[in-house]
Amino acid sequence: MTSITPIDAMDEEAGGDLDPPLGFATRAIRVGHRRTGEGEHGEPIFTTSSFVFANAAEAAARFAGDLEGNIYSRFTNPTVRAFEERLAALEGGASCVATASGMAAILAVCLGLLKTGERILSSRAIFGSTTMLFNKYLARLGIETAYVPLSDLDAWESAIDARTRLLFCETPSNPLTEMVDLRRLAEIAHRNQCLLVVDNCFCTPALQRPLDLGADIVIHSATKYLDGQGRCLGGAVVGDRKTVGEEVFGFLRTAGPTMSPFNAWVFLKGLETLELRMLAHARAAAGLADWLLAQPMVARVHYPGLSAHPQYHLIGTQQRTGGGIVAFEVRGGQAAAWRVIDATRLISITANLGDTKTTITHPATTTHGRLTPEERTTAGIGDGLLRVAVGLEDPVDIQADLARGLAGL
Ligand SMILES: *Cc1c(COP(=O)(O)O)cnc(C)c1O
Repeated sequence: MTSITPIDAMDEEAGGDLDPPLGFATRAIRVGHRRTGEGEHGEPIFTTSSFVFANAAEAAARFAGDLEGNIYSRFTNPTVRAFEERLAALEGGASCVATASGMAAILAVCLGLLKTGERILSSRAIFGSTTMLFNKYLARLGIETAYVPLSDLDAWESAIDARTRLLFCETPSNPLTEMVDLRRLAEIAHRNQCLLVVDNCFCTPALQRPLDLGADIVIHSATKYLDGQGRCLGGAVVGDRKTVGEEVFGFLRTAGPTMSPFNAWVFLKGLETLELRMLAHARAAAGLADWLLAQPMVARVHYPGLSAHPQYHLIGTQQRTGGGIVAFEVRGGQAAAWRVIDATRLISITANLGDTKTTITHPATTTHGRLTPEERTTAGIGDGLLRVAVGLEDPVDIQADLARGLAGL
């Protein structure tokens, strides 16, 4: 990776509607904090469940919605609002609502926007709990989900029917890093009166901004790269004022899976270093992908930044870099893959990602273990496949940790 497209060069309206428009890194550090009378430099944490009113009339006006302001932290909280405003400014959306986890964000979008009889059309390779939410819990409410292969635009278009309301995808996919052309998928969605919802957890707005490409809603698990250090659970939904600011927010303030002020403060700090970290993750991942290609016991490497990747043309136009996730297949199936994992002394054996610490996982027996062998074959999850979420340690140490296992095969 010799040159990386500046994020603002991929964004016609850099800085959103801020005046004057601010650069991405500036927004990540400055937006959202309204300094109180104490003159604090760092963002304060408002640990309060409720807020007081000057008098009965003001209480009545706030409850009636005639007067803006805080009432109760299930509805709004100043620290949470600061995080929401900062993330909205980074994704280029008018509204953001923060949630207790990434799954709560997906639930809030579905229950805030869909009703019985309506359908979701989703890419097949999505986060395991999301599939479970769609297939088990939403199906019970009469909201069905159909699945298509992520990059096959014709399959998306022909699977849409009159009841389809939401198109849902993750790009790049986990663990094979397949990508879909979001501009073209957004056109298909809008031609068919559907909303395009993108789970942008793997890229974050530092590498990809789906709203600029035509998507209607962006979902985050803030638990991953937005925090970036594996400390807190959280999530967010970004989009326009009506869909997100009213409909999704309306569900959230009623049902209650809101973000805690402490977690919002951790995520605010995470956003300040987001771009630096994402570029460092991506640089290390690109280096690891190149190194893996040269290893004799590695049969195949999946990384969007490699020129052999089937959607490599989207790098630099949709996605700034290949991101931080690399998957590779070792020769020798499950036994070989497990030996590589068990030979590591540094890399953490966990399915989590988006941490400064590099992690390794064997999808066929963990994240994708509940699929039948046929379903795994269809999904391209081989027994020799390993996924590495590349952290921020010295890259030579990560290579040495993997080299030990590969040498023993
Ligand atoms: C982790 C993850 C989620 C769920 O987020 P939680 O914060 O764990 O609830 C959703 N989508 C993707 C792509 C994820 O990686």
